[in-house]
Amino acid sequence: MDFGLSEEEREVRDWVRTFVRKEIQPLEPEVLRRERAHQPGLTRDELTSLQLKAKESGFWGVQTPEEYGGMGLGAVLTALLEVELGRSFVPFRFGGDADNILYFANEEQKQRYLLPTIAGERRSCFAITEPGAGSDAKAIRCSARQDGTDWIINGEKTFITGGNEADFTMVFAVTDKAKGADGGVTCFLVDRAAGWRSEYIDTMGEWGPAALVFEDVRVPKENILGEVGRGFELAMKWIGRGRYLLPARALGGCERLVEMAIGQANTRVTFGEPIANRQAIQWMLADSAVEIEALRWLVLHAAWVVDQGGDSRHWQSIAKLYGGVKANEIVDRVLQIHGGMGYTRELPVERWYRELRLLRIYEGTDEIQRRTIARNLIKGHASVSGTLG
Ligand SMILES: Cc1cc2nc3c(=O)[nH]c(=O)nc-3n(C[C@H](O)[C@H](O)[C@H](O)COP(=O)(O)OP(=O)(O)OC[C@H]3O[C@@H](n4cnc5c(N)ncnc54)[C@H](O)[C@@H]3O)c2cc1C
Repeated sequence: MDFGLSEEEREVRDWVRTFVRKEIQPLEPEVLRRERAHQPGLTRDELTSLQLKAKESGFWGVQTPEEYGGMGLGAVLTALLEVELGRSFVPFRFGGDADNILYFANEEQKQRYLLPTIAGERRSCFAITEPGAGSDAKAIRCSARQDGTDWIINGEKTFITGGNEADFTMVFAVTDKAKGADGGVTCFLVDRAAGWRSEYIDTMGEWGPAALVFEDVRVPKENILGEVGRGFELAMKWIGRGRYLLPARALGGCERLVEMAIGQANTRVTFGEPIANRQAIQWMLADSAVEIEALRWLVLHAAWVVDQGGDSRHWQSIAKLYGGVKANEIVDRVLQIHGGMGYTRELPVERWYRELRLLRIYEGTDEIQRRTIARNLIKGHASVSGTLG
């Protein structure tokens, strides 16, 4: 058993580590200042210029297949890279990627949606959640009815990431009520120009998702992604595409936070001694280090199963659940070690605290991950002996 990195993995990881340290972390004070003033941390131009800088070194379309101009990296490498990006709260991501389900587009749709998205010319959003259907995604009611060769969409979506900025949406609508999610949901590619509108939702995070409203939005049949009635499968493919990446990013944040906590513990003196000398503080650091280590291997293991081509859902759920719960415990301890300063907006700890909270909610809540894990065990799809058998 080899827990080491290959030369290629080490090189890629080290390049990203340096990029984050040299290009991204120096932006943190300004990003924080802007966010405190209710402005976007990074402007679109700044993000694009950082992305182009990375592109010069080949970092473009990390998981985009090589025939589409991407790097086509596997899951383990992508996870390693995501951990490094997670070491900063600056909302940076490499350019050149597109939603996995856009690859199911036909040739004409690829020209209109997939390729411009990879090129960064168009932005997409994935819209399934509704006010009455979140965890229970099969309960969606947004509908599409046929009118000649067109479809007319009516309904509301909510909490849609990027919904305010998107040029088009991949929206999931019921096209056959009797069949519902089992053959009666269809995915439509709908340009904003077709008439849907978005409304910003203020959250405790630094950016807000959107509610999308469809009122008699007409789309031609050419805009159906995949097949009529097969949309729910596409939605599940989108959600399952990389659950391990969310805890990977959180892992990087936790590493950075605990480093900050160690610095604070060594320098903050109370009752004549650095607080690092107190067992209460040491135990918080020790527990955090143990959990970070456990999370690292859960994430890399889930990514490894993805790379093996096996059914990774169970292992991804385990990594996502553990990452969500533990990252929140860790950031809470780090805030505690910083005392009153941890609670202020002078330090980014409270920012991380708010951001990491989301991990327990989106792309499947803690409870839904537990439900998946338990069901797999009870039905015998997975075993507590793990993948070693
Ligand atoms: C910032 C943000 C971004 C998002 N981005 C997107 C996006 O881009 N696209 C998109 O479609 N959606 C998006 N979502 C929606 C997100 O996926 C849902 O919020 C999430 O799935 C939970 O659904 P819900 O909010 O309706 O909660 P509910 O489903 O109403 O759940 C409420 C509570 O009940 C629990 N619960 C529900 N069912 C069970 C059960 N069977 N057993 C035990 N407990 C249960 C949940 O775990 C939760 O604690 C986003 C949400 C947020 C907050």
